[in-house]
Amino acid sequence: MLISGATRVCGLFGCPVEHSFSPIMQNAAFSFLGLDYIYVPYCVAPAELESAVKAVISLGMAGVNITIPHKEKVCCYLDQITPGAKIAGAVNTIVNNKGKLYGYNTDGAGFLRSLKEEANFFPAGKAVLIVGAGGAARSIAVELAISGARSVTIVNRKHERALALAQLLTEQTPIKKADTALWAGAEFKESIKKADLIVQATPLGMYPKEDVCLDFPFEYLQPGQVICDLVYNPPVTKFLKNACLAEGVKVINGIGMLLYQGVLAFEYWTGVQAPVEIMRKSLEEFLDAQVY
Ligand code: NAP
Repeated sequence: MLISGATRVCGLFGCPVEHSFSPIMQNAAFSFLGLDYIYVPYCVAPAELESAVKAVISLGMAGVNITIPHKEKVCCYLDQITPGAKIAGAVNTIVNNKGKLYGYNTDGAGFLRSLKEEANFFPAGKAVLIVGAGGAARSIAVELAISGARSVTIVNRKHERALALAQLLTEQTPIKKADTALWAGAEFKESIKKADLIVQATPLGMYPKEDVCLDFPFEYLQPGQVICDLVYNPPVTKFLKNACLAEGVKVINGIGMLLYQGVLAFEYWTGVQAPVEIMRKSLEEFLDAQVY
């Protein structure tokens, strides 16, 4: 790769950033298309976030991804943010548009795109059950609600966080029904049976604790349901292995969300259609190289 004065720089602001998959995926895409862009991760301490965001303009960067712990705080330094990102209160992609900074939440939109591409699933009119109420759950719940899901039910270890997310959906999105269920309660089992889509949005089962599985009553799964685990390392978690045993369900892992949030960011920065299969291959090779 030849870097010159014309090379456009994209980046990642987070803390830490050492284990991010995004540089692999984005640089593979730039290189494949012969685009004069480069993607560089920057470890930005919380106290330096504002100056780092200003540097996107002063250094003429094309844009950046934002990751933990900055996704919420960064919103107040931007000129404009999308309705979904505003409701979720989190931005993971910034585009520098001639000195104005636009914020997007491609986590939520990337999740929806992965549902479409990998499970031919469209949220309009569908019932969704989400286990977890953290940042990832919030981003996808908001996007599902905006996209016309009929109902979203949240189950979370700390029930008050589930209640807060359901309230956010009720008050700030057009969804007709957003509610919660108590873990292991009768409503939880009912929500499992009625859901078209079930999303595992906790870190349980993630490397290096891949032997852990969410305490979930798999016997209530129904044929035709789509079951998604947001965890992507390992690609097949214990949760997905157990879900696969149920008859007629379709399972997808978190690689699609990871891939498509990057695909969308790439397209915002370059204006060019992303080479999705190249990006997917780079991610899968990187994951394969991890030692379990
Ligand atoms: P987060 O904000 O820290 O939220 C974690 C959630 O998991 C909370 O709801 C928490 O419940 C729950 N949880 C944690 N430990 C638990 C346990 N032992 N038992 C039951 N529930 C537990 O994290 P996040 O950003 O939402 O990310 C969640 C996971 O999603 C990540 O670990 C990652 O694997 C995955 N993810 C994937 C992608 C992707 O692109 N595929 C993107 C983002 C995240 P409490 O509220 O009760 O603490």
